[in-house]
Amino acid sequence: MAEDIIIDIIGSFADGKTTLVRALTSESTLRHSEERKRGITIRLGYAHFFIYKCTKCGAFSRHEKCEVCSANGELYRRVSIIDSPGHKTLMTIMLSGAALTSGAVLVIAANQKCPQPQTEEHLEAIKIMGIKNIVVAQTKIDIVGAERAKQNYAEIKAFLSKNGFDNVKIIPVFSIQDINITDLVQEIAGFKQEEKLENKTMEMLVVRSFDVNKPGTNISGLNGGVVGGGLKSGNMAIGDKITIYPGVFIKNTWKPINTKVVQIQSEFGMETKVGPGLTIGVKTNLDPALSRRDNLAGSLVTARDSPPMFKNSINVKYSPMLEKEKAIFKRSIQKNETILVNVLASKILGTVSSLSNEKLTVTFANAQLAYYLGDKAIISRKIENVWSLAGFGIIYD
Ligand code: ZN
Repeated sequence: MAEDIIIDIIGSFADGKTTLVRALTSESTLRHSEERKRGITIRLGYAHFFIYKCTKCGAFSRHEKCEVCSANGELYRRVSIIDSPGHKTLMTIMLSGAALTSGAVLVIAANQKCPQPQTEEHLEAIKIMGIKNIVVAQTKIDIVGAERAKQNYAEIKAFLSKNGFDNVKIIPVFSIQDINITDLVQEIAGFKQEEKLENKTMEMLVVRSFDVNKPGTNISGLNGGVVGGGLKSGNMAIGDKITIYPGVFIKNTWKPINTKVVQIQSEFGMETKVGPGLTIGVKTNLDPALSRRDNLAGSLVTARDSPPMFKNSINVKYSPMLEKEKAIFKRSIQKNETILVNVLASKILGTVSSLSNEKLTVTFANAQLAYYLGDKAIISRKIENVWSLAGFGIIYD
């Protein structure tokens, strides 16, 4: 059975990200576009491709026919690329599903000095999210001389090393001519999946939600609300009874919503049962008005029979980014400080209501957070009116 994996391709339009994605995905995107048009529109993932493993030489290819020896291959992985455009802020990148990704391709252009501030910010996010599978695609080597390409390579190497990524490969690519893309595919095929996530409690992170009905559809023909995102852990199948948190705000309190999985669609078509590693759109029995215009973005979906914690405060074992604390924030986190907390797909303002050693209690005034013990909380602090990553913590209560 082929494994599913979500990766992030990080870089800006100017770095050559778009052409690289095109080089990776051209064939499979064409093949599946018809199928996608017919199904419920999800527009969540950015693109996708297949990786085949050659039965003769063992090389990985984007095509069934081996790109090295031309023998036939077997489907090895289905790769979904999650969208994180270079111009979006760091917070948005996280929200658009970094918690769902297992690996990242960092696109760095040779015609600029490395690191650019944005590249630095991206690597910071990768570190804090705990993403360990990384490869660098060095682009624009065709427009700089050999001398500059070499110099840029050394800059990238030093930058990675400074951040503790000494073993990350740097692959110079020329996407339009399809040069070295195969090398990049070997690296992506080698990305290690997390430990058996499908055996754990089901956690679906909702990053988008839709009403897929055309205006004027009569009630009997209405499709239920659609939530889009991915599974962080566990499994989901058609017919499953699920609950969406925090739900709806009624009479000053949050009320989780119960519904049922009616249909599941991934980038690759209709699915009957899914695990982590796919971007999915899930059609439910919900009133579509509830899911309209990303209304449910940031929600957590769980199996009805294993409810999460659902509280207005959390206790976190906190690991600050010490160097940054010293250089940028000038002091450690303070009692009563307002902080921004990202847990799963949600983003909530909270107040540090108590702290001792590395333990923080964060209280949310108008929100209730759904989580399981052991989930990660990403913490940002305000510096000169901008939220800046400060550290992360594991929720222990
Ligand atoms: Zn081969």
